[in-house]
Amino acid sequence: MWVSHETRVARGAHKQTGGAAPKPHPNTGVALGQPSSFAKKLIPSAGLGYALGMKDWVFDGVLTENGWMSPGVVSVDEHGRIAGVQSTSQREVIERVAGFAIPGLVNGHSHAFQYAMAGLAEHAAGNTEDDFWSWRESMYQLALNVDVEQVKAIAGWLYGQMLRFGYTTVVEFHYLHHNKDGSHYEPQIKMAVALCEAARDAGIHLVLVPVYYRLGGFGAPAKDHQRRFLFQDVAAYRRFIDDLIAVVPQFDAELGMGLHSLRAAGRREVIDLFSHVPERMVRHLHISEQQSEVDDCLSMWGARPVEWLVNNVDVGPWFSLVHATHIQDHEVKALCQSQANVVICPTTEANLGDGFFPMHAYQKGGGHWCIGSDSHVGLNPAEELRWLDYGQRLLQEKRNVFCRNGVTDSASWMFTQALMGGRRATGHFDRSFFSVGLPFDALILDSGHPLMATRDSSRLATWVYAFDPQMLMGTVKSGQWWVRHGEHRHQSTLQASFVDRVQSL
Ligand SMILES: [Zn+2]
Repeated sequence: MWVSHETRVARGAHKQTGGAAPKPHPNTGVALGQPSSFAKKLIPSAGLGYALGMKDWVFDGVLTENGWMSPGVVSVDEHGRIAGVQSTSQREVIERVAGFAIPGLVNGHSHAFQYAMAGLAEHAAGNTEDDFWSWRESMYQLALNVDVEQVKAIAGWLYGQMLRFGYTTVVEFHYLHHNKDGSHYEPQIKMAVALCEAARDAGIHLVLVPVYYRLGGFGAPAKDHQRRFLFQDVAAYRRFIDDLIAVVPQFDAELGMGLHSLRAAGRREVIDLFSHVPERMVRHLHISEQQSEVDDCLSMWGARPVEWLVNNVDVGPWFSLVHATHIQDHEVKALCQSQANVVICPTTEANLGDGFFPMHAYQKGGGHWCIGSDSHVGLNPAEELRWLDYGQRLLQEKRNVFCRNGVTDSASWMFTQALMGGRRATGHFDRSFFSVGLPFDALILDSGHPLMATRDSSRLATWVYAFDPQMLMGTVKSGQWWVRHGEHRHQSTLQASFVDRVQSL
């Protein structure tokens, strides 16, 4: 039986705040948020009684949902949680920073081990066509060869680099469950725990999403080289998740569940899998990344993947559909209505030649989305957002294609969507950029960089469209510097471990 535990509720509200809706900002579509109901419980009085132990970070500017607050002060408690954001400081100052703070983002989709092959698959024999499926064969070779210590070292360095670029939370979509010969580790969750340890060492919040995988294609048995990914049945997967429910909260981590893709399970299994999920647990799956996957689903199950999913599973706000590249208008509409989140991975999708997400229709329908770095050919959220926009501009042969229906700032709109959708991907629904009760997680842009020094309202757009690593002063996670001037707090250890383990691959 599925254990009905709830995952740890550590970082904010699980419900959208109720009451009268504040007026949304035209570019972000977000209203200046009040502390969520959960946060209010956490912090009964954000003004007076709570002042004990609170200290202030003072910045040249803080990005809020209503634009830049300059100067900007973020008050934090002794655990590094946000207690307030205001323009003046009346408490002990932790640090006066010559920088601009923007909220840390969620990386909504990661396969950490794949980082070991970043840059290694960019060649092909002269006369052969290279595509997603041929890339997948190379990836399988890597997947068959990495051991637990190697995955931990790869993930540790990778997660640290994500922090450097401004991701402060990562959703690890985990399917490399078993030993090289397909046998179970002892304990079975050993690889999953290694990922939790890597995230802890790197200082990033982790949402671990171990996924179910049994088949090798629609109605086709799994192949031998998929042996490390497989569960015998849904019951075995649930036992695996139950084991993790007891372990994951010991780390700075939360637990989700999911399915590798519709092609990895039978129809009844998919329905069963998503019918009994612990409350407030996020559900992730790859879907419609490749046209041939859509064709196979149509011929075997009589419907397109998203079409089938929304007709057979209760898809709602706790769902994150990864890619959803090849979807038609009626599927876009169904996804928007469902309140599900789509995780778009622009650099990986470009690298694999997947196609373009139909953003024009999705924006029109008010769909939720975030970004993910997936195979990790790119680790920079600014790059993902820029690629997302440029893809759509190239398709439409126009500029600023997201600017319509009141949206006037491309970067601001994308950033807000990525921030809010990213929270959705982790089961959090806070609407403020820096919500009271959440950890103070931020990327700090250097005020001394010439472009930053000469920008005002376009500072965010400059970060997205004219990115330069020298713009980055560092990253604050849970109220502490984890990266400063490009250097991670555990830089030498993480780096040495990565180089040593990857060289031995
Ligand atoms: Zn993926």
